[in-house]
Amino acid sequence: MDMNKRIDEMREEIIASTQELVKIRSLEGEPKPGMPFGEDVDKALQCALKMSEKLGFKTVNVDGYAGYAEIGEGEEYVASLGHLDLVPEGDGWIHPPYAAEIHDGKMYGRGTSDDKGPVVACLYALKAIEEANLPMSKRIRVIFGTNEETGGLDIPYYLEKEKAPVLAFTPDADFPIINGEKGITIFELAQNFAVAGNGEIVIESIVGGNAPNMVPDYCEAILTCEKAAEVKSALEAFAKEKSYEMSAEIEGNKVTIKSIGVSGHGSTPELGKNAIMQLITFLATLELGNDDVSNYVKFFAEKVGMEVDGKSFGVYLEDEPSGKLSFNLGQINVTKERGLTVLNLRYPVTKTLDDMMTPLCKTLEGTGIMMENLKHQEPLYFETTHPLVQKLAKAYSEQMGEEAKFVSIGGGTYAKEMPNTVAFGPTFIGQPSTVHQPNEYIDVEELIKLAKIYAYALYELAK
Ligand SMILES: [Zn+2]
Repeated sequence: MDMNKRIDEMREEIIASTQELVKIRSLEGEPKPGMPFGEDVDKALQCALKMSEKLGFKTVNVDGYAGYAEIGEGEEYVASLGHLDLVPEGDGWIHPPYAAEIHDGKMYGRGTSDDKGPVVACLYALKAIEEANLPMSKRIRVIFGTNEETGGLDIPYYLEKEKAPVLAFTPDADFPIINGEKGITIFELAQNFAVAGNGEIVIESIVGGNAPNMVPDYCEAILTCEKAAEVKSALEAFAKEKSYEMSAEIEGNKVTIKSIGVSGHGSTPELGKNAIMQLITFLATLELGNDDVSNYVKFFAEKVGMEVDGKSFGVYLEDEPSGKLSFNLGQINVTKERGLTVLNLRYPVTKTLDDMMTPLCKTLEGTGIMMENLKHQEPLYFETTHPLVQKLAKAYSEQMGEEAKFVSIGGGTYAKEMPNTVAFGPTFIGQPSTVHQPNEYIDVEELIKLAKIYAYALYELAK
């Protein structure tokens, strides 16, 4: 039995089912009874369950938190785990974001590749496996998550009600096999200032950044000083020398400095340009006073600067599977009373939180700056010899005709929530990812290819 042939025959159904789901604007909304993430997310879940029933699968709705389609017999099950919720569409679309229109072989819409297309590919993979009548020792489940983007409350609830899969993948990152995801921390570095500005140049405020896990693309500071014109010309010289986009406006003895950077994801700060740190680095070149506000700024200029790997902060770590620690200062809010920065550090997969926190706390010693509100996700790492990643690699190399490489990423997929799970696709090597961006699309040929890879992968896991 050739599962690929069967998937080719179901091509139009795969396309139509993806379009049906993409047309639902499944953003998290107000909770209602049985709909913990609102009506729109529930609509997508109901749609996926109905689709599964039509395909002849057993279905279960896990109280609106998740759902699944299942085939086979056996005590244990293997699974794919994708999500039906979305991030907002934002602006800048050339085709409507919820029409699932196909242009030049690409289906456009929010959720086409993240993650509705891949979820549908898994459903039709399940159909091809069922019809192939192959011997399997485990059940196979296609699980629909509904809160991946905004809170992650779906999988903990699912695990209260259901056993975990023995082997699983999430089609929600990149190919080939993501066997490592870095440990993620988000925390604040805060200080209440006792001694306010007393030098010739007084920092009134610094504000910048939108989220800890984004490279900030804008930051603004307000200073008061007698020699405003000198500050402005120093800034212009500094910006020119460093090729930063920065400007200053003078109003009496007040100078407003604007810094523009390049946004990017917090897991890859080296691909962005940090607007906050451009500004901090400049401020530290001025003759600041010996007050708390100035010292707070000088601390960050010295210990962070434009670095994205934490070397000067003393937290640099590196390993072979996942590379360097990533260091992103994502937000700042400084007034004359208090300084607050929010950081997102991701440490290598074979290291521990202590490896990073011990030197971090040492650097803070005696500065008056406190670490607060730490959020932490452990790293994830499967050795390349682990059966889970070996089986996925086998399916991948058979279908793609090339060796499956193992890669580590900055982290944050369902694989950290669900036991025995790694991320596997759906973005093919060398293809641009449009995830969370305007004009998100899925290439229709790739959608069909996904169904084939996932069919062989799920079967390999269930053998
Ligand atoms: Zn996703």
